[in-house]
Amino acid sequence: MKKVLKSPEPEELRNYRNRYESQIKTPKQWKDLKKTRVKNIIQGQLITDQRGVCAYCETYIREKFCSVEHFIPCEKSKVNNYEKNYDLDWQNMLAVCIPPGAIEDENFDNSQLPHKYPCCGKAKANFVPDGRLLNPLELPTARLFRFKREDGEILPDEANCEKVGIPVAVAQFTIQTLGLNVERLKTLRLAVIKKIEEEIDSYDDGIIDPTIIEKQLAAEYFDNGKENYPRFFTTIRWALSKGAEDHLLDISYLG
Ligand SMILES: [Zn+2]
Repeated sequence: MKKVLKSPEPEELRNYRNRYESQIKTPKQWKDLKKTRVKNIIQGQLITDQRGVCAYCETYIREKFCSVEHFIPCEKSKVNNYEKNYDLDWQNMLAVCIPPGAIEDENFDNSQLPHKYPCCGKAKANFVPDGRLLNPLELPTARLFRFKREDGEILPDEANCEKVGIPVAVAQFTIQTLGLNVERLKTLRLAVIKKIEEEIDSYDDGIIDPTIIEKQLAAEYFDNGKENYPRFFTTIRWALSKGAEDHLLDISYLG
């Protein structure tokens, strides 16, 4: 999970809300809006804002492989219990992967796995965030997670969490609640880690400072930060260590 920087609410969503806001007795819900073209506009903007990666697991999202996630879940019959209508709240919307764990799932031997071992929105289901779940919109730009080189497991980065005042238990709870350590995600992240290790080795002649090599690779992976990011941005950032941080500083990375 990385920080998500959101653009202002799309005009079409604002108009839709304004049109129906006065209908106190029957406020519009997500199930109403999703039948309209406004849903496609929202989804497109979310994908652009998130630079093409799932807000939770960071696999690729594309229009057909993406779902609009509500951080505070849509509980269809309970919309009136909230102080405001979170169903139509732009700040409550994120784009997440579908099928959970993303496109590459179709290459896995057992296509039922994503259903049996859900992640992201499917794993979170109707859990109502209560302060123990990190919201990608409220994260610092610092990297809060690290990875196990042996198997691609995601773990809280204790030192970085402490620096920015986020309890390690919250990062841990987030990993568990979103199913970020299901086997297929670990396998995909492990492949990314191995590829980067090979790339570093291929440049390393024992003379060049390793940080320079990492920084060069970070420039290739993240470019100027204006385009889509590669999937598993945070894994790559961790694997490229100080070089990645130097490059992200150079491009004034904000999310
Ligand atoms: Zn995901």
